Amino acid sequence: MEVEKYRQILLDMKQALTDRINAIDREVRHEGMTADWSEQASERENDEVLESLGNTSEQDLLKINYALKRLDNGTYFNCAECGEEIPPARLELLPFTAYCVDCAEIIED
Ligand SMILES: [Zn+2]
Repeated sequence: MEVEKYRQILLDMKQALTDRINAIDREVRHEGMTADWSEQASERENDEVLESLGNTSEQDLLKINYALKRLDNGTYFNCAECGEEIPPARLELLPFTAYCVDCAEIIED
């Protein structure tokens, strides 16, 4: 069943992302404890890179959770904006997308 196939893909992605976010969190906390904020500018820059990575991952996680919700309520295969069916090739490529290609160009960056 297609729903189960995509659910498994999304759950796998979610697990991988959660692992990554936890690893980044650990790294940021560790750097924060050891860094001397007045002198170690390079470590601070490193922190900022890690934090922005963490933010990207958390946004992806929100998209995945939204996609899982859409799977549950049966709207996963239709664009959240215009209601048109999202082509399977697009879902294979971007399993967490909520929009068809046309709407994604307008809504997403
Ligand atoms: Zn659309």
